[in-house]
Amino acid sequence: MGISDSSNAGMGGSAAWPAVIAHADMDAFYASVEQLDRPELRGKALIVGGSGRRGVVTSASYEARAFGVRAAMPTAQAHKLCPQGIFVPGRMERYAEVSRRIRAVFESFTPVVEPLSLDEAFLDLTGTQRLFGSPLQAGWALKREVYHQTGLVVSVGIAPIKMAAKILSDMSKPDGLLVLGPGLIRQFLDPLPVDRLWGVGRVTLERLTAVGIATIGDLARADPGWLAGRFGSLGTHLAELANGRDPRPVMPDWQRKSYGEENTFARDLALEAPALKSTLIAHGEALAHRLRADRVRARTVTLKLKLARPLGGGRFPLLTRSFSMRGATDDGAEITRVALYLLSQVGHEEKIRLAGIQVHNLERSDSAQLGLFGAERAAASKHARLNQALDKVTERFGHSAISRGMARAEKAAPTTRIK
Ligand SMILES: [Mg+2]
Repeated sequence: MGISDSSNAGMGGSAAWPAVIAHADMDAFYASVEQLDRPELRGKALIVGGSGRRGVVTSASYEARAFGVRAAMPTAQAHKLCPQGIFVPGRMERYAEVSRRIRAVFESFTPVVEPLSLDEAFLDLTGTQRLFGSPLQAGWALKREVYHQTGLVVSVGIAPIKMAAKILSDMSKPDGLLVLGPGLIRQFLDPLPVDRLWGVGRVTLERLTAVGIATIGDLARADPGWLAGRFGSLGTHLAELANGRDPRPVMPDWQRKSYGEENTFARDLALEAPALKSTLIAHGEALAHRLRADRVRARTVTLKLKLARPLGGGRFPLLTRSFSMRGATDDGAEITRVALYLLSQVGHEEKIRLAGIQVHNLERSDSAQLGLFGAERAAASKHARLNQALDKVTERFGHSAISRGMARAEKAAPTTRIK
């Protein structure tokens, strides 16, 4: 495609980079960690995922992908496609540990790292030219260093805007590096299918297809007024992206928009089921622990419920309720209190398939503390001491050691961290 080194030569090569944004994404992360730890699994069709009635594939080695196995596919389907595959359960703690080492490598290149998940992050490399050379050279150095420090392979896309960097890393897989210089973005995006754009999910794709928009170029050439009339603010946003305008900066870790914990129940639950309540308590504590570890507090709590009534195509109705507090918090009891209040406001009779809590509207912990006075401050610091103690116990004995009134919180169900 001739875009692998547009940074150094050729069209667009002479233009200055307004920003140098890398998107780094580990190849088949969980499966690769398993193959790293267990050499006998290397070169094999390996499938990491949950077993049981609702098990889904969380990661598949490239050998398994050759059979059509993909992440998020039901495990049963993967069995059919690849009966000779080796199925192993995931080991999240191990992946999190490897993730921390990868993060450290990223942070040795730039302090401005925005993780999207355990194995994926944006890096703002603007201004690092003197340290790492051209964007292409920086990309190679990043790949080399990740491999050197972890034994794992990362694919990297580099562009002046986030959206293009993300598309490039995906296109470069496996073991790839693609760099797209400024001045080439429109040309690069033009022929791509429109669902390559961030924010175009299944529903939007159907609506765009219905009006004859198939490629990003179609969207870029559509009349902005017509798009806005038809699709509202989403239309305006997508038109901007399609034209290669993506002003979103790389947001370092602590500014991340939200933290979330959620899990799907083995059996659908009624709204008043004690297990639902104890799950939310566990989620609240887990979130608070993560907030404190990252030294941030959140003001807004969102309760997320998936109803058990199937919509077809593996989809279920999603229900969210949010509440913003006067001050930011990193206290599990407080987060849980808000979530349970939101739960009490849900007025329907349907059973619940999945429950989660998200917190957002983040502040640095140090700034949140400044707003408190007198008795409030004393109460807050008492809470803070209790929470520090809880964090120490958790670090020593693991999450299951903490039970603070949560009556055997449903820990049997696997918790998925989101974001
Ligand atoms: Mg990945």
